[in-house]
Amino acid sequence: MTATKRTAQATRESLHRIFTIPEAPNSTIGRIEQQISQNLMGFLGNHIAASENALTDIEQDFSQASIPETPMFVSDHMQHLLDKLVSQSVHTSSPSFIGHMTSALPYFILPLSKLMVGLNQNLVKVETSKAFTPMERQVLGMMHNLVYQQNDKFYGQWLHSAAHSLGAFCSGGTVANITALWVARNNLLKENGEFKGIAREGLFKALNHYGYNGLAILVSKRGHYSLKKAADVLGIGQDNVIAIDTDEHQKIDCKKLIEKCQQLSAQNIKILSIVGVAGTTETGNVDPLNQLADIAEQFSCHFHVDAAWGGATLFSNKYRYLLKGIERADSVTIDAHKQMYVPMGAGLVVFKDPASVAAIEHHAEYILRKGSKDLGSHTLEGSRSGMAMLVYSSLHIISRPGYEMLINDGIEKAQYFAKLINQHPDFELMSEPELCLLTYRYVPEKIQRLLANTNGEQQAEINHLLDKLTQFIQKRQRENGKSFVSRTRIEVARYGGAKILVFRVVLANPLTHKAILSDVLEEQITLAQESETFLPKLLVIQ
Ligand SMILES: *Cc1c(COP(=O)(O)O)cnc(C)c1O
Repeated sequence: MTATKRTAQATRESLHRIFTIPEAPNSTIGRIEQQISQNLMGFLGNHIAASENALTDIEQDFSQASIPETPMFVSDHMQHLLDKLVSQSVHTSSPSFIGHMTSALPYFILPLSKLMVGLNQNLVKVETSKAFTPMERQVLGMMHNLVYQQNDKFYGQWLHSAAHSLGAFCSGGTVANITALWVARNNLLKENGEFKGIAREGLFKALNHYGYNGLAILVSKRGHYSLKKAADVLGIGQDNVIAIDTDEHQKIDCKKLIEKCQQLSAQNIKILSIVGVAGTTETGNVDPLNQLADIAEQFSCHFHVDAAWGGATLFSNKYRYLLKGIERADSVTIDAHKQMYVPMGAGLVVFKDPASVAAIEHHAEYILRKGSKDLGSHTLEGSRSGMAMLVYSSLHIISRPGYEMLINDGIEKAQYFAKLINQHPDFELMSEPELCLLTYRYVPEKIQRLLANTNGEQQAEINHLLDKLTQFIQKRQRENGKSFVSRTRIEVARYGGAKILVFRVVLANPLTHKAILSDVLEEQITLAQESETFLPKLLVIQ
């Protein structure tokens, strides 16, 4: 082995070690920590579906609305938590929990979180955060650098400038998307002559002043539902988030996008923003960002990229190219609590132009005074924790090459799993992995052959039964609690765009090894045989 290879191997091993939990001390808190991090089995077992009238057993435990009149010892309460809450929580850190974007955390997060909570800094203003404010600004600078790769002079000039922001730290992708579109909206409908800008005069007067019949946000059908929430709170209206069809690779159809843009312009509806998705929630695909940037330029509108989940791919020199064109976006959303392995409550948006946030600037007398460096003057949220510290620490402890390994591992594991599914006669891959996410379903070989030779009604009938079978398997697997995949519905081109129920797998846990993936398939085959209705019905179809 060469020296560099040895180093790479050592780094990989230590990376795996950071996801393995050291022995917990013998105290209740220690035991709770151990439970949280080590109970890898039965994370969803005995899951009882909520019925309309009766409360589930778990709901029974939390059904008192009266506030306790007698105090309780902390140690007793800890035991109570252990019994009622911890033991009934979902063990998202399990290597066989591969259904969602919420995954394992490195062990160092737990002690660092205690430090962060203990210091209880409030990032809304410098008076309650001191060094935490420049620290958060540095984190935003690093993330801006990850996306836009500007030079030292650029960051020297803007990182700590009071009237500028390279981005905004917030609680997650939803608030990040709202913030990005808020900035876009206020810059579009800005102060102009007599008109004092939308921030002061509101949407009605703004549209009147500028003479628009309405505003629209354009995104592919795979766009995240948070964009609709954004359109709702920003007064644009959910129906004006226009979903554009996708191609057979689940990417936005640019021809249809241009047609829609022309149609809207003809109706005098101004396009507020074109939104590209870098890593869709359901299939993990990336829109053609360079083409979207061209189209946004053509229609002179804001270009936002929702890279809440996929943004961390930029850490990988090997796979960074998958997101090419992202550097042309006016704003980019990235969730640190997804592929950056930071606990929930860590999202951010970065802006290409550090001056663009002036459009959402707010001031108050006792804080956020003009010219102050209070972060609260450019954020939607008010009081905010020092969460950025956990991103800061992770960037230092894991470092860029460490993140690259985690990202590459996930992508390559998804490629491996896709191969496994393709080679197996009884499974059908439903979407090719581009990042570390894929979808598939169980279809016995005989039925696959039948499907390939039918169309129309019979095909629809078979797919309907397969949907039922997929749902049956997914629920059973969740209840068994040994492994977990999620399910979703996607349009599949080879079935005439019919909406098909599929298993959805996110391979984000570095401890998910290959044998787990084979076991997941084996378990699904076994569970399928337990279906007393759908599988037999399918097998008699000729
Ligand atoms: C997760 C996600 C969001 C929403 O982020 P939250 O952190 O859940 O608010 C938005 N867009 C995409 C593409 C996502 O994957």
